[in-house]
Amino acid sequence: MVEQPELVVIGMGVGGEEVAGRAAEAGMRVLGIERKLVGGECPYWGCIPSKMMVRAANALAETGRVARLAGRATAEPSWAPVAARVREATSNWDDQIAVERFEGKGGTFLRGQARIAGPRAVEVDGERFEATRGIVIATGGEPSRPPVDGLDEVAFWTNRDAIEATELPRSLVVLGAGPIGLELAQAFHRFGTEVIMVEVSGHALPADEPENGEAIAEVLREEGIALHTGVSAKSVRPRPGDGGVVVELSDGTRAEGERLLVATGRHSDLSSLGVDAAGLDPGARAVEVDEHLRAGPGLWSVGDVTGKGAFTHMAVYQGRIAAADVLGRDHQPADYSAVPRVTFTDPEIAGVGLTEAMAREAGHRVRTGVATTASSTRGWIHGPGAEHGVAKLVADADRGVLLGGSVMGPSAGEVIGLLVLAIRQRVPVAALRELIYPYPTFVRGLEDALRQLG
Ligand SMILES: Cc1cc2nc3c(=O)[nH]c(=O)nc-3n(C[C@H](O)[C@H](O)[C@H](O)COP(=O)(O)OP(=O)(O)OC[C@H]3O[C@@H](n4cnc5c(N)ncnc54)[C@H](O)[C@@H]3O)c2cc1C
Repeated sequence: MVEQPELVVIGMGVGGEEVAGRAAEAGMRVLGIERKLVGGECPYWGCIPSKMMVRAANALAETGRVARLAGRATAEPSWAPVAARVREATSNWDDQIAVERFEGKGGTFLRGQARIAGPRAVEVDGERFEATRGIVIATGGEPSRPPVDGLDEVAFWTNRDAIEATELPRSLVVLGAGPIGLELAQAFHRFGTEVIMVEVSGHALPADEPENGEAIAEVLREEGIALHTGVSAKSVRPRPGDGGVVVELSDGTRAEGERLLVATGRHSDLSSLGVDAAGLDPGARAVEVDEHLRAGPGLWSVGDVTGKGAFTHMAVYQGRIAAADVLGRDHQPADYSAVPRVTFTDPEIAGVGLTEAMAREAGHRVRTGVATTASSTRGWIHGPGAEHGVAKLVADADRGVLLGGSVMGPSAGEVIGLLVLAIRQRVPVAALRELIYPYPTFVRGLEDALRQLG
């Protein structure tokens, strides 16, 4: 019998865990409900295992670069150690440690599918819980199914099947060249899978700067991945004989493979959660929240389901603010001006804030500075693995501050930290130009782009 909770958290992914754990630690009676695994997508089918795959694939790529740098090295790719490491990292998809961590903070955990049954009320398997303080919706998202004729009749992979793979297919068609599609496609290809990618937008990474979308396309093509941009999948059919798939594309060509990976984004299903019972629109794409993560009276929401950016760092950031608000503690309101995003391809592509197109659309008078990674001293020294991509800075010409920036190259995910700080703290471009950047580092490559900002 569960004691009447003060707070019910629906969905115990990274966002839910953050709010629930903080509130429980503060002494609140918290009921955390999770239908799958506490921790959610990131540790079991997302960030962590995918980055283990990327790390392994990059080790193979580095071996391939030895010939141009240091003599001769050969590698015989084997997926077995990767699959084993993923199993170790996910405890074979067992969340006991995470459940105990939450319970150790004083929370009560319930496994099951929750449905909102009224303001501050939640039902799980016919049992009803009335929360005195309120509810937190932290239900994340699910892989989207694009409207492609025949997709329902073929067995296809989502990120979850790809992460759980113990053997790789000989060939793979990937729908979607966003971060998830790109990372998995490059990793699998480096282990010997033939990969064809299909992206409906005009360039890979449609949400990022086109310069880097085009640069990563060049990298992939050089590696032997066929990337079709500006085309969509019209239909999917089983390939007779071997259980593979044939995808008809909008340009009249076809892509065939042993497997199909659908990586066309993620979505949240609010109607099956019964959000209307709490006064929200069940047809909305995301839960609308204010800067305190409030979605209504006695209602908060955090993470992917809020549509503010599908990143673990976002879910944790929002979780921290929501927890403070739930507890009635002083806190800074959410500020999304400097949200970083990193695609862990090789080379990495990182961005923060507005792209040039977004800044122009928002009506800013924009000035940009662009520096190629290869022409920076460190890029030139690095050689193989750093030949492609640009650092691009987007400044507000009137205020003399950065609005956005992107970096492509080895360790771009680390370099972006400087731009996160600069944008969030509105550091004047003139002050950024005065800094002493260590020589010869990738971060020093930003100096050329800064100079062009006038
Ligand atoms: C392949 C892949 C790679 C990624 N790599 C990165 C990365 O490198 N860096 C990064 O920042 N982000 C990455 N992400 C995104 C990151 O995983 C998500 O942004 C993060 O998991 C969001 O956390 P969340 O708590 O909002 O949602 P989730 O982690 O999705 O958790 C939501 C939880 O709610 C549960 N739930 C849903 N409905 C109900 C219900 N009705 N009742 C009970 N439980 C319910 C679900 O089972 C789930 O466990 C990646 C994602 C994928 C798929």
